[in-house]
Amino acid sequence: MTQAELICDWGGEAVVSRFDKPSGAWCFIALHDSTLGGAVGGCRMKTYARPADGLRDAMRLAEGMTYKWAAIDFPFGGGKSVLAVPPGLAGSAREGLLRRFARLIDSLNGAFSTGVDMGTTPADMGVMAEECRYIMGMHDGRPQDPGPHTALGVLVGLKAATRHGLGAESLEGVSVLVQGVGDVGAPLARLLAQEGARVTVTDMDAERAEVLADEVGGSVVAADSAYGAECDVFAPCAVGGVLSEATIPLLKARVVAGSANNQLEVDLDAERLHDAGILYAPDYVVNGGGAIAFGLMHLGEHDDAVLRERIGGIAGTLDAIFSEASAHGHSPLQAARRRAERVLVERKAERE
Ligand code: NAD
Repeated sequence: MTQAELICDWGGEAVVSRFDKPSGAWCFIALHDSTLGGAVGGCRMKTYARPADGLRDAMRLAEGMTYKWAAIDFPFGGGKSVLAVPPGLAGSAREGLLRRFARLIDSLNGAFSTGVDMGTTPADMGVMAEECRYIMGMHDGRPQDPGPHTALGVLVGLKAATRHGLGAESLEGVSVLVQGVGDVGAPLARLLAQEGARVTVTDMDAERAEVLADEVGGSVVAADSAYGAECDVFAPCAVGGVLSEATIPLLKARVVAGSANNQLEVDLDAERLHDAGILYAPDYVVNGGGAIAFGLMHLGEHDDAVLRERIGGIAGTLDAIFSEASAHGHSPLQAARRRAERVLVERKAERE
């Protein structure tokens, strides 16, 4: 599909698109739904086979952000930005693109705010904040790392899921496999170990996994045998698309709760998990800790105790989702979607 066809086909509100001649990058800002407020979503930088693939990614991710904000009832709309860059963009050429893109976002006067996502770093956000008023996750002029906030949210969400799925009141002795020990997975593994969980880690970077396992007193499984590994809980914290028709039958876990975005290859995989008796914590709810913290900072709240308390609210949100799902025989994904849609309908009615 061409870019024009993709836009015509989309259910969102608007797309801002620019070709950045000096870098050869395409810049996309997808604004999906502003019912709850100005759109807020990360800035992804990636090389795509075709620019239209970057646009498609921005649109899909913007829609996900609408549901993410609605699931926690925050006053933000769904949006996402994608920088579809040529291979090897680096140094001053990359920084120039970030600065010009930041000025484009600033010109939208708050219709869109952005923050870190795949391919961008907190330091990049510091550069963009010099050009733009709408950068998330800045505190006292310094960019913050969302990973530890996201990890805390996954921990409380994973505990709620373990309560519902395993009837376990604590993580003491519960075995958890963390897939991907990067910015979120590493602090999550540390928190799990502190709670008494038996931690196993896996990562494409085998050395990174070994070092972390040593630190937390856990074990390692090879990345290619992770899906069939014995565990009570599987915590995908690496890449999307890991729960599929091929991998779900291999899982030994009874609970899946992790930070990765778009964990399901297709929505039908939520039903596959449900039918297999595996409790799935919807990714956009359980990975909301960073969004909650950065959202609150954006609204002027920086007190760590308040941020932690609001991130802790992920447990209550998941409790409600799991209860609604089991009351209606639905998958948690269906229950989460219905809950988010109710919030959108209620807020729209209040505005009219
Ligand atoms: P990261 O890049 O810091 O870490 C990812 C880790 O996963 C790396 O160590 C990488 O080697 C490993 N990995 C990649 N593919 C793998 C595979 N197939 N098997 C095993 N390991 C693999 O990323 P991150 O910031 O920790 O984010 C992890 C996931 O959580 C991503 O999907 C991200 O979109 C999502 N997420 C992150 C945040 C955040 O605050 N950083 C917030 C919400 C969602």
